Amino acid sequence: MTYPLTYSEYKDGLANGVLRGLRCSACGEPILPPTAACPKCGSPDLKVAEFSPAGRITTFTVVRVAAAGFRPPFVVAMVELDQGPWVMGTVKGIRPDAATMSLIGRRVKVGSERAAADAYSGGEGVSLAFELEGR
Ligand SMILES: [Zn+2]
Repeated sequence: MTYPLTYSEYKDGLANGVLRGLRCSACGEPILPPTAACPKCGSPDLKVAEFSPAGRITTFTVVRVAAAGFRPPFVVAMVELDQGPWVMGTVKGIRPDAATMSLIGRRVKVGSERAAADAYSGGEGVSLAFELEGR
């Protein structure tokens, strides 16, 4: 099986400010993070696509007990990108004790941050990080 977009290529894109994912050639589904097959129709015929780093928060939680390498507390949110996919990452620029339901629906710019290596990973990774826009 070949992967049209490897994790390493995805990670390198994020490190350079490019939000790279996939689009299914069979049904048009936008896919992010990259997978080996379309989660909607199962087709392996996927093409690399660049996504706009913009979206809105759909839900969030405050992490108070974290995995090794992370420093809690911090806010984790699900964001619906303007182009469709839902992605998860940390929310920057907000104190966890100030996170209220008013976060839901807020516009964010999607960036990334380094994720520390732990006992279960193959080394340092990268994860999505969201910056709140406006008020
Ligand atoms: Zn598909």
